[in-house]
Amino acid sequence: WDEGRVHLLTHSLHYGLGVFEGTRAYEQTDGGTSVFRLRDHLTRFNQSARIVRIDLPFDHQTLEKATLDLIEANEHDSCYLRHLAFIGSGSMGVDPGDNPVRIGIASWKWGAYLGEEGLRKGVRLAVSTHARLSFASSFGRAKATGNYITAVLAKREAVLRGYDDCVMLDANGYVAESSGANLFIVRDGVIKTPPPPGILPGITRDTVMWLAEQRGWELRQMSFARDEMYSADEVFLTGTAAEVTPVREIDDRPIGDGVPGPYSLELQQAYLAMVRDEGLCPKGWSTPAPAPALVEA
Ligand code: PMP
Repeated sequence: WDEGRVHLLTHSLHYGLGVFEGTRAYEQTDGGTSVFRLRDHLTRFNQSARIVRIDLPFDHQTLEKATLDLIEANEHDSCYLRHLAFIGSGSMGVDPGDNPVRIGIASWKWGAYLGEEGLRKGVRLAVSTHARLSFASSFGRAKATGNYITAVLAKREAVLRGYDDCVMLDANGYVAESSGANLFIVRDGVIKTPPPPGILPGITRDTVMWLAEQRGWELRQMSFARDEMYSADEVFLTGTAAEVTPVREIDDRPIGDGVPGPYSLELQQAYLAMVRDEGLCPKGWSTPAPAPALVEA
């Protein structure tokens, strides 16, 4: 944690090309720790890298083992995990040439991304002046570091103006996503969420779509403008960090009754239950971490 060193001429620091993943491990209701959808996160890590031509020097199994070893070594019962692949130093200039690809994994305890109160009562968002990067000039599917320049600016703008986070529209004015989470709306019992490629197809988004399908709820992946969001009965965000966070206000307009609605609450509850219980997950979604070795007193 304190000894990591990165050279000042690290290519990715100058030109912004790297890929990353955010994953969570949860303490299970019956004891032990499991990583939620680790395989899907590592698959997206690999796909992101392929899209931006970063050759990962380790295969899936090696990264999976390293991740589980890290959780064990840090004796976490629950944690957030950050995988990062970046281009190291060597030749300078825009072309990364043969510079080495570096990979690091960090883990730490991280509570509710938008605060405990946000998780319970809902958060306040503002539509950003920054449009989400268009998929004509970036890659929506790649969780690439450089894609986040607009997200960082949009998030800071929202926080400086007193909101919890932002909503980014795409270049045509359709609702895209938040700075680090996907967005859903509910109106008259129909759930809608914007489709790729103008968004990062989130793994939590996929989990929530699965939960909605299990309940026989109508869910459409389709584009909508901000007026549909303002007049929705419910809005919520999904993300590994944000989990399922209700939205109570957007641009100073209360959403629905200004409190989390029944769809948001049920999906939140179902999500938080399944990440803590392998028995509620489809096969392969929950990867147990080895128990830390017992140290004799
Ligand atoms: N959109 C953006 C821009 C994100 O950074 C994230 C977080 N990775 C998400 C959506 C949600 O993705 P996931 O559910 O896979 O964490």
